[in-house]
Amino acid sequence: MSEPGPRRWVRRALVGAVLPLALAALPSGALGQATTYDVLITGARVLDGSGNPWRYADVAVRDGRIAAVGRLRGAAAARVIDATGKVVTPGFIDIHSHADDPNYGPRGLRSSDARRRAAPNLVMQGITTVVVNQDGRSPVAIDRQKAELNRLGIGVNTALMVGHGSVRGEVMGDDFRRAATAAEVTRMRALVRRGMEEGAWGLSAGLEYVPGRWSTTDEVVALVEEIVPFGGVYISHERSEGADPMWYWPSQHEGRPPSLIDAVRETIEIGERTGAIVVASHVKAKGANYWGASAVVIRLIEEARARGVAVYADQYPYNTTGSDGRTVLIPDWVWGLERQRPRDFSAALRRALADDSLAVLIRTDIAHEIQRRGGAANVVVMEYSNTDVVGRSVAQLAMERGVGPVDVAITLQFEGDPTVPGGGALRGFSLSEYDIEPYAAQEWTVTATDGWIALPEDGLTHTRVYGSFPRKIGYYARERGVLSVAAAVRSATSLPAAVMGFPDRGTIREGAVADLVVIDLDALADNATFFEPHQYPSGIEHVLIGGQFAVDGGRPTGALIGRVLIRGDRR
Ligand SMILES: [Zn+2]
Repeated sequence: MSEPGPRRWVRRALVGAVLPLALAALPSGALGQATTYDVLITGARVLDGSGNPWRYADVAVRDGRIAAVGRLRGAAAARVIDATGKVVTPGFIDIHSHADDPNYGPRGLRSSDARRRAAPNLVMQGITTVVVNQDGRSPVAIDRQKAELNRLGIGVNTALMVGHGSVRGEVMGDDFRRAATAAEVTRMRALVRRGMEEGAWGLSAGLEYVPGRWSTTDEVVALVEEIVPFGGVYISHERSEGADPMWYWPSQHEGRPPSLIDAVRETIEIGERTGAIVVASHVKAKGANYWGASAVVIRLIEEARARGVAVYADQYPYNTTGSDGRTVLIPDWVWGLERQRPRDFSAALRRALADDSLAVLIRTDIAHEIQRRGGAANVVVMEYSNTDVVGRSVAQLAMERGVGPVDVAITLQFEGDPTVPGGGALRGFSLSEYDIEPYAAQEWTVTATDGWIALPEDGLTHTRVYGSFPRKIGYYARERGVLSVAAAVRSATSLPAAVMGFPDRGTIREGAVADLVVIDLDALADNATFFEPHQYPSGIEHVLIGGQFAVDGGRPTGALIGRVLIRGDRR
């Protein structure tokens, strides 16, 4: 505990960058007078992000930093928040975010709509910092992205990664379905280095996606070598998340495709060969035919850590994935049989099924896809022309109709919207609590959203974009007891700060940046559902970013108070 005496504070100010501001704000001779804070949070239980149990303390903010932590009741402040009965934590850091990904939500943080750039669904979860450019996708010019974000004004602090897929695409153009040559790898290395020099925090990869899918481990190792001198982090959407990758169809591919376990081994190898911090991103075990594999993944990571490999995972705490929201049980190669992408998917499927040899392959692949999406009981119709079908699972429809699940998938196409592959919108729930909970309990698992900016007019979306952090703390820690609340807060604060190397964030202590969340822990709950996803969580009362309010009294302020965090810049 420290006293907020002015002399002590001045000493702090002298070592920080805030001195000129602080002096400018004070009339001459004022340094000897009583301290005045910008914000004073009193009476709260402080969970400081370290994982330690709570303690009572007041938290004072001035000039964007935590000025004091201790017994401060009665101190003068422009704004006093009585947080008696509440919890104060550091702001949450989301190390896998698509908030600036043009593929997710209309341009996200670079939208022309200030309402969107304010990222209300993120700050309402307590998120104060996002790490974007994930899954291997980034602008190639990091400095331009940085300048544009700062010029437009954004609602959360944002750290940038260099995307492996984007660098690969830039160098290889359309000819990417092969291993890169030595000369190409050299050019990719230069692009990665430039991104790091421009302030990026590391390299992201999307090895299950185009064009990362065709890279070798050696190529990725070479690029990760470029981030190591900068202290960069490697965050990977790995080659596979279950028995096989999303692009795999049993009827179309020969040989054994990479599995999740192969993929985690590769991430560990990359860490082992380069010495970089590596993160197995949105860790899971996808598919009813793969549930329980978390036990193997956890053992691999534990063994690697015991050997000295700095490997971590991040996780969003839900039992369905992003691509599960676009579940199409009919294999996409069927559409490729047509001369151009069909306008009438029902007719295209009918033509393909008329060929008996093709029909066998199609039915094999549909059965495989149903398993990969969690099994027939876990594939649910979300939107469909016949609303009686909405909310039912493929297993229920099969039972009612007295046919098999594969026939249901085919009938849904024939009876549904012919302009939509599959006939309507399905969601698979392809993950199991038997994997989610063990992953969530690991001390090296970072909480993340894999989310993006969503506004109510966006239609069906994933609940993780509204509720990931409240769910990890409120449901998995407080209700289920999978880990302690203090550990869940740590997995959202000091742990991601340590993984990324963010200075002065993720903890509550004097001198740290005043990114803070005031939570009513008893009320904390994620309220988004898959049919009504656009619902803020309860229990997040105030969120401060650099000492300013992003959420006040349980409502988003819309303030554009975030900025791009640049490696090496301690402000
Ligand atoms: Zn991903």
